[in-house]
Amino acid sequence: MCSVIGLYNVPEAAKYAYFGLFSLQHRGQEAAGIASSDKERIHIVKGRGLVTQVFNEDKLSKLTGSSAVGHTRYSTAGEDSVLDAQPIFARYDLGQIAVVHNGNLTNAKEVRKKLIKEGAIFQTFMDTENLIHLIARSQKEHLYDRIIEALQQIEGAYSLIILSRKKMFAVRDPHGFRPLSLGKLGDGWVVASETCAFDLIGAEFVRDIRPGEMVVFEEGELRSIQVFEPTPHKCIFEYIYFARPDSNIFGKSVYELRKAMGRELAKEYPVDADMVVPVPDSGVAAAIGYAEESGIPFELGIIRNHYVGRTFIEPTQAIRDLKVKMKLNPIKNVIKGKRLVVIDDSIVRGTTSKKIVNILKEFGAKEVHMRISAPPTTGPCYYGVDTPTKEELISSRYSVEETRKYIGADTLAYLSIDGLLRSVGNDLSYCMACFDGNYPVPLKN
Ligand code: AMP
Repeated sequence: MCSVIGLYNVPEAAKYAYFGLFSLQHRGQEAAGIASSDKERIHIVKGRGLVTQVFNEDKLSKLTGSSAVGHTRYSTAGEDSVLDAQPIFARYDLGQIAVVHNGNLTNAKEVRKKLIKEGAIFQTFMDTENLIHLIARSQKEHLYDRIIEALQQIEGAYSLIILSRKKMFAVRDPHGFRPLSLGKLGDGWVVASETCAFDLIGAEFVRDIRPGEMVVFEEGELRSIQVFEPTPHKCIFEYIYFARPDSNIFGKSVYELRKAMGRELAKEYPVDADMVVPVPDSGVAAAIGYAEESGIPFELGIIRNHYVGRTFIEPTQAIRDLKVKMKLNPIKNVIKGKRLVVIDDSIVRGTTSKKIVNILKEFGAKEVHMRISAPPTTGPCYYGVDTPTKEELISSRYSVEETRKYIGADTLAYLSIDGLLRSVGNDLSYCMACFDGNYPVPLKN
């Protein structure tokens, strides 16, 4: 997953992009970058690491101009190298261009192969680079038409922001897999993956960019073109795990929906227990919902250390639990001798849940009832969420009972697909491919 932000007609746009990216950091921690335009030139700074590691006052001061685009990266396509950081910048016959992209293109290999055959020289392994080549090779006179022509050749998930020296373009694919919102900031505009970025920089939410829509920012004006007929398949996993709970995406509050999932889970799978304990932070909102619905007290029985970044020291086999304890540690006095309902948002490989159950039991929990506020993850995502291969997903190989045995819980239950749908008001315009196997766009890569 990644995040994107764009600002147009905002003085010191790059500084706002920096703060916006800071609040979107949860969507990608591998690399960060900003490109700005002073109308004559596009300037760019990008690198590996967190937003605060890539930028400093000096670097930001080079990013002059009143428009900017920014990106934080979580690799889903390409490789983990600085070359694969975004924005992607290029000089071409109409001038200069910088692109940021959230999502995964499902026909990237096919298009790349064709472009290479025609003589294109690729600089990165990223699917997003296809777009730059398609724009540069188009014979159309205006960038606007070139972008549309390029979009007609790509498939899959894209929430894109394209910056030229004088204009900016924000586009969402016809399925609207990834979120993209529009806000107002002073006399200018801002576009971002999530509304939590607007809150930080003091922008006012206007509306979501619609699936299949392109918004063109030009001379301080805004123009909307419905490039494709919308066929919405918004990613439901954004609500379950990815987005920040203080964001409103796809028109709804992430926090409220997570709580609703917890309530549905309590209705579907009640259990006689002493306390509801979330796995922080991913299970907190659902656990509040579960506790409210069941009447069982909510307790912070597990504490998360927020300062765990990447660790380069691999614990030896003898101290293998150290890694999960660095991140999550139970409060012994709270859980000892108690029957716990432990809530998390998802089980992917099953490693985290197994370790959590193990530590809770080691610290004296009497019973551990694992409740997951999403259905079993049975398939990988082709549209931008970094899920492992099907074989690595525990629920694609094991039944619920086999998973329960593997993680060592007393009971295990997942929210049903119907329960998940009820939580989102029975709106059928979501992509749930990772749960139900219905992939709206086939993977051609
Ligand atoms: P696992 O140990 O593989 O079962 O991972 C489960 C944990 O990973 C859960 O606590 C989730 O909150 C979290 N999670 C789910 N999806 C993702 C993802 N795409 N990237 C990172 N973490 C995730």
